[in-house]
Amino acid sequence: MTVYDDSNVFARMLREEIPCKAIYEDAYALGFHDIHPKAPVHVLVIPKGKYMDIADFCSKANAGEVTGFWRAVAKICADLGLEGNGFRIIANAGANGGQEVPHFHVHILGGKSLGPMLAQAA
Ligand code: AMP
Repeated sequence: MTVYDDSNVFARMLREEIPCKAIYEDAYALGFHDIHPKAPVHVLVIPKGKYMDIADFCSKANAGEVTGFWRAVAKICADLGLEGNGFRIIANAGANGGQEVPHFHVHILGGKSLGPMLAQAA
């Protein structure tokens, strides 16, 4: 996909057309619980701007947006109490990455030992 799709589910959340279980919001980012959690803690963080994936975000967002987004991610991890026992951050991109929603987002996973990074070896 080369053009941002305004109808994606996270864009609709940002426009408040559909609800989400928000846990954090500032000028740069929205954090909310994943609807299908894969761990005891599974939170998604999205930038407020229209960016399709990490490459789109890092190449087009201004420095304030990039810094604001990643600081929000770190603050959410701290607020959730994940720093002591650790956590994992994932950003899926494209078909091989299994990205389903074409608005850049990171998954924050924690609350238990998450095991190996991938379920199966290559
Ligand atoms: P990805 O495969 O990286 O694009 O992940 C998209 C994530 O969005 C999945 O983990 C979904 O469970 C999650 N998701 C999809 N729709 C919603 C929703 N309405 N509220 C919260 N999470 C959602």
